[in-house]
Amino acid sequence: MENCIFCKIIKGEIPSKKVYEDADVFAFHDIHPAAPVHFMLIPKLHIASLVEVEEKHRDLLGKIMLLAPRLAKEQGCTDGFRTIINTGRIGGQEVYHLHTHIIGGGSEKLPVMIPNPS
Ligand code: AMP
Ligand code: ZN
Repeated sequence: MENCIFCKIIKGEIPSKKVYEDADVFAFHDIHPAAPVHFMLIPKLHIASLVEVEEKHRDLLGKIMLLAPRLAKEQGCTDGFRTIINTGRIGGQEVYHLHTHIIGGGSEKLPVMIPNPS
């Protein structure tokens, strides 16, 4: 996709702090980290969001899920981490190229994501 910033990051047209790359996926640090470790794992294939995934993406999605814990540990998440995929308007998605946030590090438990209203 021409105007997708994450496609541009994959191509090296926009600089990023790379965490990992192979033929199918790319991982890089979030520019506004929410915790000591905060990077995103994305498919090289432009898929706009989780709503757009299809059966043909099964292996790619599996690869991302398998890589998430490995890279999280390598980046210093030794005692757990959080994975987040924001999807669409309600999900607060800002960049429409499917990405899995991996957030953790430090020693503090992450804050509750969606507080219980009661
Ligand atoms: P989301 O709300 O899930 O779409 O999150 C998009 C994320 O991309 C945000 O956490 C941004 O901080 C991050 N982001 C946007 N532009 C860049 C960039 N050029 N390099 C690294 N992270 C970025
Ligand atoms: Zn893209």
